[in-house]
Amino acid sequence: MHDLVIRNALLLDGLGSAPVRGDLGVTQGLISSVGEVKGSAKETLNADGLALMPGIIDNHTHYDAQLTWDPQASPSPALGVTTAIIGNCGFTIAPCRPADRDLILKNLTQVEGMSIDVLRAGTRWEFESVPEFFGMLERQGVALNVAGFVGHSSVRTYVMGEDAPRRAATAAEIAQMKDLVLGGLRAGAIGFATSTSPNHNGHGGLPMPSRLADDQELRALVGCLKEAGRGVFMLTKGGQTGVDFLEELAADTGRPVVVAALLHNNANPRNVFDDLERISAANRRGRRLYGAISCCPLTMDFTLHSPYTFEGLAAWKPALSLSGKEYRLKLKDEEFRRAVRAEVTGTPVATRLFNGEWDKVYVENVGRPQNAKWQQQTVADMARATGADPLDAMLDLALAEDLDTEFSALLLNSDETAVAAMLRHPHSLVSLSDAGAHLTLFNDAGFGLHLLGHWVREKKVLSLAQAARKLTGDTAAVFGIQGRGKLAEGYAADLFLFDPATVGRGAKKRVQDLPAGGTRLIMPPLGVHGVWVNGERVADERGMRAELQRAHKLPGRVLREFLS
Ligand SMILES: [Zn+2]
Repeated sequence: MHDLVIRNALLLDGLGSAPVRGDLGVTQGLISSVGEVKGSAKETLNADGLALMPGIIDNHTHYDAQLTWDPQASPSPALGVTTAIIGNCGFTIAPCRPADRDLILKNLTQVEGMSIDVLRAGTRWEFESVPEFFGMLERQGVALNVAGFVGHSSVRTYVMGEDAPRRAATAAEIAQMKDLVLGGLRAGAIGFATSTSPNHNGHGGLPMPSRLADDQELRALVGCLKEAGRGVFMLTKGGQTGVDFLEELAADTGRPVVVAALLHNNANPRNVFDDLERISAANRRGRRLYGAISCCPLTMDFTLHSPYTFEGLAAWKPALSLSGKEYRLKLKDEEFRRAVRAEVTGTPVATRLFNGEWDKVYVENVGRPQNAKWQQQTVADMARATGADPLDAMLDLALAEDLDTEFSALLLNSDETAVAAMLRHPHSLVSLSDAGAHLTLFNDAGFGLHLLGHWVREKKVLSLAQAARKLTGDTAAVFGIQGRGKLAEGYAADLFLFDPATVGRGAKKRVQDLPAGGTRLIMPPLGVHGVWVNGERVADERGMRAELQRAHKLPGRVLREFLS
């Protein structure tokens, strides 16, 4: 007898096969039968023609800290996600010495736009090492399956302390870091993650520690994957990191390399395609390289209190470590403004978030009623109307409102023809939701719903079967996730039931539900009918199931075994 049979569904197998009408049986958390399911069941659900696919695997999240206070990993499971990979870009919270806890949180605040009050109030520190962190998640439970990277910046801070964001490592320090990376991999990490991106700055405006690593350090640490015989190398690369160097690492270690963050930039429209072409060439030579792309336009809602949008600019550096009155004076400073203006309109840099497209920066909410006339106007409009330069117009409005003005900027990935070509590219990996991070700036945790609604139904760029494969089977294959990402007998019953005619993301709204009263943006799910993790239904038409939460049922697993 099956525990559950879902009848009359449009089955998308996660491998890209043509959809078929059929049933699916679940027994003890596993798929027990697919196609025409005979026999009785404790529970039967008529899908009435809705689509059923494997649960979405979100390979780029930052739930490391959030999971310690929110094992539900809100909002991902309600958006069809049944497995999340954490620790991306190397921004983990383990390993961490007790004395470094506040520093690690302050770095996260800066680099991933998480509120320090939220992190301090929420994060539970019942671990020091990576194995202890995985152990804690296991004891506490998780609503979805979680796999975690060993994070370079945390490993570096653990070994080098205050010097981590300041200098290259010595041979002895590299040896200590190797031990930590190997220990993490042997305890079940899914790989090793790092960042060389200039957008990644930590506390006090210092670079995130991994940015100080030289090639020798990177080679040694990525080499741990070969030594352990497992794991993926993921990095978010800055302009100075070439795909050729990454190909060398892939060749030396024989391990897959995931290259992030390939976002289309109107100021340098070829760059992302050049990178993808280099990645394809490496694949032709037998290496496993994948370009991590996003299917969502990158928009950020920000205030000048914490303008992540501009903090990667070299010219913004003098403002990064300032606060209060000094910071406001810097924003007023003519010299500072001149340098920022010159940089955003100067030679395009592929990894730069903002490139002077002032017609794509909106005044989302003014902070004072007398400025209501600028509501929903672009900064370009405002500049035209007042005869001011756009940067001056934005900064002056913000300063007049004690920096409370909320702006919304459409930064990257706004050219739909380009994004369509990236989605169709044979070596691209749909990724970069950044779920769990940048909570006040944007929320792309529902990237899968956007792919199925916008790119499949509205734009017809992918078929339903292709999109399901990109969100499940392809990702499972890249990361060696066993027994998931496919509708087949013996596979985990991680399932996502949805209506192809309505699936998508609702309008974004701001909610205040974080520890210490923090706010975040959410985009509610549309067309979601059911999400099952290891056979347990965690979400239905109304969202996360309250009865499951009341019963403290957390059906996810910490994944520690991966295919080599
Ligand atoms: Zn990231």
